[in-house]
Amino acid sequence: MKIIDRLNEDKINISFEVFPPKTDEGYEKVAAATDEISKLNPAFISVTYGAGGGTSKNTARIASHIKDDLHVLSLAHLTCASSTKDEVRQVITNLKELGIENILALRGDIPEGMTFPAKDHFCYASELIEEIKKHGDFCIGAACYPEGHVENEHREDDIRYLKEKVDRGVDFLTAQMFFDNDIHYNFLYRIREAGITVPVLPGIMPITSASQMKKSQELSGTVFPRRFLSILDRFGSSPEAMRQAGIAYATDQIIDLLANGVKNIHIYSMNKPDVAAAIMSNLSEIIKA
Ligand code: FAD
Repeated sequence: MKIIDRLNEDKINISFEVFPPKTDEGYEKVAAATDEISKLNPAFISVTYGAGGGTSKNTARIASHIKDDLHVLSLAHLTCASSTKDEVRQVITNLKELGIENILALRGDIPEGMTFPAKDHFCYASELIEEIKKHGDFCIGAACYPEGHVENEHREDDIRYLKEKVDRGVDFLTAQMFFDNDIHYNFLYRIREAGITVPVLPGIMPITSASQMKKSQELSGTVFPRRFLSILDRFGSSPEAMRQAGIAYATDQIIDLLANGVKNIHIYSMNKPDVAAAIMSNLSEIIKA
């Protein structure tokens, strides 16, 4: 089944993300975390693609496991910047052979020291999307950035390129993490004005430790609101308290989104089924209402 068909159903859809192991030895641990997350009745589970393509085999393996053994929709991420076009084509062929119907098409970060644009590489996610469409009837997702992508000085450019990307055949968008819902509402307003009409899944990252916050900020360039910083300041040095506060903060963001008419939400669950389960437990009655 295609994810877009599920997103278009008239119900609340909560999805989760896992990341594959870097080595084959780590497979069982990630598979076990994925199995636990699948018990939370997710709309789908997405599987990231390691920067540089190193985890390509394990991304496909976990995505197949989700689909074939856990009977949950799976979304395989695929990046193109650090692989040649032929390497990317091989991965698409493999995903097709495995019966994976849903791909999140990404450029990926430009590896340090790489000349960009590189010969024989796809330069932007939009080019990858065109390529995927040549290989069959995939449901294609892509990334968007409510606070702007770090490489763009002007948000208008970001939205212009996003529109070009969507027009090449994107079925839905998943948003980079944010911690202030007003940023998301503002972004939605601007992209709808620009004519982008596909579903957008807000990305919620439960921050359960001070070190995770630092890493998330480095990765996404997101701005943490004062309310979050106060929580970190007060509870950051107590792991259990910070975990509880981070789960409560993410729950609160989700409740606000649902209350404002958003019905599809993606949680960056980071291979932490306990955190995902705690959020779902907090929402147990809310998602039925
Ligand atoms: P693009 O859409 O190609 O955009 C990249 C930049 O180029 C943007 O600044 C855009 O505005 C600009 N641009 C686009 N088209 C043009 C054009 N024609 N001319 C000039 N500029 C242009 N990374 C991973 O390595 N693995 C993952 O699994 C992964 N999953 C992710 C999931 C989500 C939901 C998100 C939000 C990000 C994810 N990333 C992942 C990170 C992502 O790969 C990086 O943010 C990357 O820098 C941009 O990828 P993109 O697909 O958004 O690129």
